[in-house]
Amino acid sequence: MSVPRDFSLLLDELREEVAQAGNDQKKIVDSLKVLHSLAGDCVIEAAHLCELKCVTKCVGATGRQIYEVSGPNKGYSTLYKLYPRINYCVCSVFQKKVVTRRQQLTVS
Ligand SMILES: [Zn+2]
Repeated sequence: MSVPRDFSLLLDELREEVAQAGNDQKKIVDSLKVLHSLAGDCVIEAAHLCELKCVTKCVGATGRQIYEVSGPNKGYSTLYKLYPRINYCVCSVFQKKVVTRRQQLTVS
């Protein structure tokens, strides 16, 4: 499932709002609420993974970025690599809820 262009534009706008919010927690929370209304509970799950420090942004020498996401259980060794602007994940939740059942637009 590809992300509709309008949805991508909204995400870009929200990303810009958060970047400009700096340390203004209210603005960040307001942007996350908008994102939650668009994408659903996977936003809460994603924020939780960020709080648990399971997400690492990796920037290569060329400036190319990927995000590595590990499971919240430190003993769980699976590490997922996510590419910005590509709505795809190899995890079983993505395969089940997005690809097969088409219940969600994306997952955390
Ligand atoms: Zn996934």
